[in-house]
Amino acid sequence: MNLTVNATLKWMEKMNEKVQANKEYLTELDQAIGDGDHGINMSRGFQEVVNKISVTSYETVSDCLKDVAMTLMTKVGGASGPLYGTAFLKMSISLRGKDKVDGMALILAIDEAVKGMIQRGKAAVGNKTMLDVWIPILNLFQEKQSINWNDVERTAKNSMEKTREMLAIKGRAAYLKERSIGHIDAGSASSFYLFQSLAEVARECEI
Ligand code: ADP
Ligand code: MG
Repeated sequence: MNLTVNATLKWMEKMNEKVQANKEYLTELDQAIGDGDHGINMSRGFQEVVNKISVTSYETVSDCLKDVAMTLMTKVGGASGPLYGTAFLKMSISLRGKDKVDGMALILAIDEAVKGMIQRGKAAVGNKTMLDVWIPILNLFQEKQSINWNDVERTAKNSMEKTREMLAIKGRAAYLKERSIGHIDAGSASSFYLFQSLAEVARECEI
């Protein structure tokens, strides 16, 4: 595979479309066990990302992802802005100096993103956060020799659904203790859209 600047722009456009279309749903998920702003945070953030990167020309994917990170960090409040911002910044740093983003480079970048999110948010696997989608995706990438995008999409969806039965240990939902069980984590839903978008772009562009 080869993730180009153009494919990266398409990835963010798709993510933005999904977030705008599911803004209410993300809000409802966050209303159940949080403060109800995840839909607003994500829709504002990814709209700003698309506004920025669609009018800028980039030499490398790394440069483009840096702008994605900076935009999310500056335009999105709450826990999710800095966490997604960190993820994209770490990916950008990991890809710096690479003219071709092949499968191996992408896996290393996602590994760095996960490490950065853990360092920032101090959450572990099973704590009912967005990491409960990111970590299974990273594990899938690391287990397989080649990336199967249908598996990526399926794993992201299943992992998001598994957060329903988890007890929240991190984030606002943790205040609810046992009452957090029975609801999908909002951040894991937005992360599902992110990996679903990447899978769709990868299949369409045959990258
Ligand atoms: P806030 O929680 O500040 O209102 P959002 O509603 O935008 O911010 O984002 C909430 C999401 O952020 C949660 O659903 C969860 O997935 C994620 N999250 C919260 N805290 C953490 C953390 N410490 N580590 C990883 N993800 C977290
Ligand atoms: Mg919230």
